[in-house]
Amino acid sequence: MTAPHGFRESQATLKMTAQFSGVGLHTGRTTNVTIHPAPADTGIRFRRSKGRGQGAELTADWRHCIDFPRCTMMKASDGAKFQTIEHLMASFFALEIDNAIVEMDAQEVPIMDGSARPIVEALEGGGIQEQDRPRHFRKISKSITLTDDRISLTIEPHPTFAIDYSLELPYWNTQRWSGEMPPARFREEICFARTYGILSVIWPALILGKLRLIPLVRGASLSNALLMYKDRVLNDGGLKSPDEFLRHRILDLVGDLALGGGPIIGKVTAFCSNHKHNRALLRAVEERDALVPAA
Ligand SMILES: [Zn+2]
Repeated sequence: MTAPHGFRESQATLKMTAQFSGVGLHTGRTTNVTIHPAPADTGIRFRRSKGRGQGAELTADWRHCIDFPRCTMMKASDGAKFQTIEHLMASFFALEIDNAIVEMDAQEVPIMDGSARPIVEALEGGGIQEQDRPRHFRKISKSITLTDDRISLTIEPHPTFAIDYSLELPYWNTQRWSGEMPPARFREEICFARTYGILSVIWPALILGKLRLIPLVRGASLSNALLMYKDRVLNDGGLKSPDEFLRHRILDLVGDLALGGGPIIGKVTAFCSNHKHNRALLRAVEERDALVPAA
């Protein structure tokens, strides 16, 4: 299948190993992440190098995901978990890296500044190596719509990858972003957007997490997440763009869609979708046979 405009034709990996480290948003623990080059057609594989589940390895795929609030998490058959993988997956999309081994010495991918930009920069430090094999594009052949209460998500045939996202938040006007999303544009316009929390949601989540001993937002701080109270942003310096929340939701959507096995050629229209719905869309694409067969 030929690459749509703005996408690389051939697969790519890193030239050299890349690294980044930091605390996890939910566990609050430090993880060192090392990303190694991998041969063509490997895909993105996560590997646990230390601790519980040492040696566990699995391909980044929505089929390995389990439900967990506020992040995307994969679980290997031996119980090893790989948590908050979405910004890293979005970074692979941004740089069109198809093949890599992600080695982690703890459960959760570091949140860094809450956006994908530091991860993209770390990966770029390893350099990009094109590989002599075509990419596996996934061209959408028919329209699918999922709805859940007020949330909706549609995928439909389109000549390239495009997104139309609308976000409604309490105390804020509905925000909308619509357009084609080649990786270069994603890097420029979306990668910087930081994760956010609403104060009235964060405190109950922290308390609930403590009561149930679930690590939820334990690593959150004003240096790695935007914190909102009603219509105010409590971080010094405020927002990087007036619609930074919306752009972050697009970042999460693209990161989740990167768990589908290849870049999508199609248009996704979303209203307030979250990780669970994003994955449900990938499942629906498979189950409803909505892909043009690969040549
Ligand atoms: Zn996110």
